[in-house]
Amino acid sequence: MAKWQCIKNCGACCYLQPGERPYLQEFLTPQQLQLYYSLVGSDGWCIHFDHPTRTCKIYNDRPYFCRVEPEVFLELYGVPPSELDEFAIECCYEHIIDMYGENSSEYQRFHQATQ
Ligand code: SF4
Ligand code: SF4
Repeated sequence: MAKWQCIKNCGACCYLQPGERPYLQEFLTPQQLQLYYSLVGSDGWCIHFDHPTRTCKIYNDRPYFCRVEPEVFLELYGVPPSELDEFAIECCYEHIIDMYGENSSEYQRFHQATQ
């Protein structure tokens, strides 16, 4: 069974432009939404995303909704732990294709890592 994992040198999910995430209000509480909006930079990327290294500058303190963890996905999306990998993989594909395209090295590396 495919297992989700984050790959290095990606960061596609840190592009937070709300127009790209029309479903946000369905899943986040008003407080979480407020926090989400406060993170969106003028270029649409999270203000905590470090572009040169493509890493999170506040990784250990990143918001609840940034965490790919069973309890977070169950609470926010109603995804049971048994379906976490499949759901998270689909989310990553969506973000990676949006940001880098299906022919990108990011797509290929993620595909290989989650086989
Ligand atoms: S889109 Fe997926 S693989 Fe890419 S940085 Fe985000 S969690 Fe990691
Ligand atoms: S807080 Fe970190 S993990 Fe969350 S969107 Fe921003 S850069 Fe990405």
